[in-house]
Amino acid sequence: MTRIDDLPVRDELRGQSPYGAPERDAPVHLNVNENPFPLPEPLVSAMAERVREVAAGLNRYPDRNAWELRAGLAGHVTRAAGHPVDARQVWAANGSNEVIQQLFQAFGGPDRRALGFEPSYTMHALIARTTGTAWISCPRDEGFGIDLRAAREVLGEERPHLVLITSPNNPTGAAVPAETVVELYEAAQEARPCMVVVDEAYGEFSDRPSLVPLVEGRPHLVVTRTMSKAFGAAGLRVGYLVADPAVVDAVQLVRLPYHLSSVTQALGLVALEHSDTLLAYVEQLRTERRRVVGELTAIGYDVDASDASFVQFGPFADTHRAWQAVLDHGVLIRDNGVPGRLRASVGTPAENDAFLRAARAVRKERTAGAGTPR
Ligand SMILES: *Cc1c(COP(=O)(O)O)cnc(C)c1O
Repeated sequence: MTRIDDLPVRDELRGQSPYGAPERDAPVHLNVNENPFPLPEPLVSAMAERVREVAAGLNRYPDRNAWELRAGLAGHVTRAAGHPVDARQVWAANGSNEVIQQLFQAFGGPDRRALGFEPSYTMHALIARTTGTAWISCPRDEGFGIDLRAAREVLGEERPHLVLITSPNNPTGAAVPAETVVELYEAAQEARPCMVVVDEAYGEFSDRPSLVPLVEGRPHLVVTRTMSKAFGAAGLRVGYLVADPAVVDAVQLVRLPYHLSSVTQALGLVALEHSDTLLAYVEQLRTERRRVVGELTAIGYDVDASDASFVQFGPFADTHRAWQAVLDHGVLIRDNGVPGRLRASVGTPAENDAFLRAARAVRKERTAGAGTPR
């Protein structure tokens, strides 16, 4: 049998495995931060209807510029961020992962460097690798915050072309204060003209306002957002960025023509028309998040502050064993490789009950068992 490494594959891809959360059969899945609520029936019907309309025109290529969808997204961000955003400042693609990949293609690449504050979303480093961009990891402090002094030093030494800031951060949970983003932006520009990308995939779940207004007067700042998390439409694959229109022009140099299908564009618009219903789930998830944090703390866990739709908790002497133990109780959560910590998405009330039961049982086994409780 031919294996990948038998092919003349690029050196940096040898021995690698594809990105993705481990898939396991389990009654409860809280591992990939999906919105747990299925789309409401009126929206499902509206989508089915729209697909019928679009289907007759599938002999034609879609709108290459996705103008209508971008205008819809601009309207949504204007309301969500309380700041006027124009369709020319918005670019959409198949998930914010594709948006980020396009940003790397336009501003990264061979002989260029990108910097991130880790632990964070591992796709950033992965996209760096697949675009031939060198990756620089700047470690976060003990409480998973960004240490500005250390950051300034690394920015001065490494002079990256791209800086990625995830806010709220995944997997650790907390949002980054706007002042910190501004200071990082300025420090990065001191070293060289540098694109600063704020990945705001969980922005809607935070008490802090969106960082979108910061793009005003900062042509090197980009905020990426997605319909996968708060909108509960991960299967739709629509992500977008907000930035100076020049950034949108730059990204268009690397996008594939007709990258967003007519069906995706149409369904994205229908979802936006129902944004009030969809975003109502956000409030419910935030309430559940507070409950999960409170109960985990009461059980005796140490829970990291979360502005997102998941919680990171610990400590665990053996993270993998703890992950397996929770799974043995029927709940699949995520080991993101952060020492001593695991991450669980906030689910429906019933899913969260199951998770909390599992977490309680694992805690008991650990304190009662032979293992050294930490
Ligand atoms: C989920 C996630 C994304 C992107 O998801 P898409 O489905 O590609 O929009 C981006 N950044 C972070 C931090 C995420 O957790």
